[in-house]
Amino acid sequence: MNEHIEQLVSLQMIDLEIDKIDNEIKQEQIALDKRISTLAEREAHITEVQARIAQLEKDRRTLDDEMGDKIAHVRDRQSKMMQVQTGREQTALLKEIEDAKKNAKENEEKVMELMAEIERLTAEVDAEKALLKGEKELVSEETQKVRDTIENINKGKKTKGSKRQKQVKEIQESLLRKYDTLRERRKGLAVVNVVQGVCQGCFMNIPPQQFNQLLKGDKILDCPTCQRILYYQPEAETEQV
Ligand SMILES: [Zn+2]
Repeated sequence: MNEHIEQLVSLQMIDLEIDKIDNEIKQEQIALDKRISTLAEREAHITEVQARIAQLEKDRRTLDDEMGDKIAHVRDRQSKMMQVQTGREQTALLKEIEDAKKNAKENEEKVMELMAEIERLTAEVDAEKALLKGEKELVSEETQKVRDTIENINKGKKTKGSKRQKQVKEIQESLLRKYDTLRERRKGLAVVNVVQGVCQGCFMNIPPQQFNQLLKGDKILDCPTCQRILYYQPEAETEQV
């Protein structure tokens, strides 16, 4: 294998290990973020229910006030009963009293309904608050654990990083630039093996003439389809790696 390519293949091996480490860190962070956002959702839900309770309390107070007025109205009509003379006037007044009583009763029923709903929602909020408290404790423990895990993972990354620095020094600058660009554009894979004439990056065929050139190993060749840098490592050799 071309010596420059060989250096690149070693570099890529280190880089892929570093990618794996970065991905592990990311996964840990994602899992934690998810738990934290669940907490925020629960908190938002509690605030929402509390606002609903406040509104219901307000409605209840309004109904209470109205009921006072209605009862006063009934009393007023009842005292009027003494003064009316004709049967017709009496009947009208009686109907008015009946209506006002019915109205007050409906009002009272509504108040009872509101109170039941307020009680139900208050119980819900209390339960949610208790759950939230437990979850907050868990998440805080979890956060510490994740921090420790990431710290540990980062130690391994540091070792790989210094290995990478050493390896980078071995590589021509222009080739390194090309390698970095390819890694960025080709999902982290810049240098690929060719197996039975097929590029292992994009799995397209390499033209036979180019494959023959690759076998000679004196030139740096790119895959005509994905532009990755190609190398050739016979299969027996691959197994040993
Ligand atoms: Zn390719």
